[in-house]
Amino acid sequence: MSEATAGTTFPCPGCGAPEMAFDAPSQQMKCPYCGHTAPVPPRQQAPAPAQQAPQGETAEGGQPAPQAPAPVGAHQERSLQEGLQQQAQRAGQGYGTPVQTMKCQTCGATVSFAGTEVSKNCDFCGSQHVLEQESHRRVITPQSLVPFGVDEAKAKESFKSWLGGLWFRPSDLKKKARVGAINGVYIPYWTFDAQVYSQWRAEAGHYYYEQEAYTDSSGQKKTRQVKKTRWEPAAGQRQDVHDDVLIVASQGLSRDIAHRLSTFDTSKLVPYDPQYLAGWRAEEYAVELQDAWQEAQQRIEAEQRNRCAGDVPGDTQRGLQVQNQFSGETFKHVLLPLWIASYRYGGKPYQFLVNGQTGEVKGEAPLSWVKIILFILTIVAIIAAIVIATR
Ligand SMILES: [Zn+2]
Ligand SMILES: [Zn+2]
Repeated sequence: MSEATAGTTFPCPGCGAPEMAFDAPSQQMKCPYCGHTAPVPPRQQAPAPAQQAPQGETAEGGQPAPQAPAPVGAHQERSLQEGLQQQAQRAGQGYGTPVQTMKCQTCGATVSFAGTEVSKNCDFCGSQHVLEQESHRRVITPQSLVPFGVDEAKAKESFKSWLGGLWFRPSDLKKKARVGAINGVYIPYWTFDAQVYSQWRAEAGHYYYEQEAYTDSSGQKKTRQVKKTRWEPAAGQRQDVHDDVLIVASQGLSRDIAHRLSTFDTSKLVPYDPQYLAGWRAEEYAVELQDAWQEAQQRIEAEQRNRCAGDVPGDTQRGLQVQNQFSGETFKHVLLPLWIASYRYGGKPYQFLVNGQTGEVKGEAPLSWVKIILFILTIVAIIAAIVIATR
């Protein structure tokens, strides 16, 4: 057991029970024994916590900090340079609350538990090969999170109605699907903001038409319109702002699923408070800040290229070259809520996920080939009927 296991993080003032947990429906701390509730205090903007460097601080080497004053609260961004430096020094403060951390030996996900309960199986892949880990990796503290708004009962309800709304599934699927373990896990993301100044040059093509004389196969002289392109050099510049470019930092979720689930409303972020984690799990980020920034940069550059292409005049273009200058890059480490679960049908397991903010469901479900074949046969019959009727 690590020293971080002293689980009396948020004792109940009502009954003295060791652990209150964050309750999704009421958005408050709630005691599971006596029902006592307490609000999660909104963290004050000033003074800034120790891990958030105050504004105006000078960076290493006496250079003035390059950032403009950051916006307040949950939306407070942090300078990328400062973050990368901090990352290098491993100066993160972690979750700000004692956690137990388990690492899955199968899929590699690292999940922290802010409470006494620890699962024996991996939340992501179900593997039993989970090992307790000393939390000496000093991770960057999350700036903000979207608290769970969907509780377990509502997540299951969303799942059932999702299952009922699917096409071409076995008729007894909704009745017989047996939901197994369902876990609320905060998934780590990085979000980036940046201003980009893009200079581009290209050749802009303008179409014009010329009459061309030709001789057709029977030897007759004719004329026709031929499209030609006049190429002209073109250049331009533009200034764009990219806000909340979201990069998933999870190890346990597949890229594909994580991308399909990135429908979170980041305007609902609240400042991070360890109390939100009480009774829940949080996956530790597996993608480092630097790598995430590279991915964000690539995404932003691709977007800028598209925008510049749209600026090139004329009917067509070639040889587009874009030079981007980034400035005011800031980042946030955020946690977004997700229910991870599986169900069994016909002896086979299927995974599904419920967005803990919106209740949106993504998942796998068995297909009914009988229904699909019947549907195809029906379509074929209808087409045949139409063909016969119109003869
Ligand atoms: Zn209590
Ligand atoms: Zn796993």
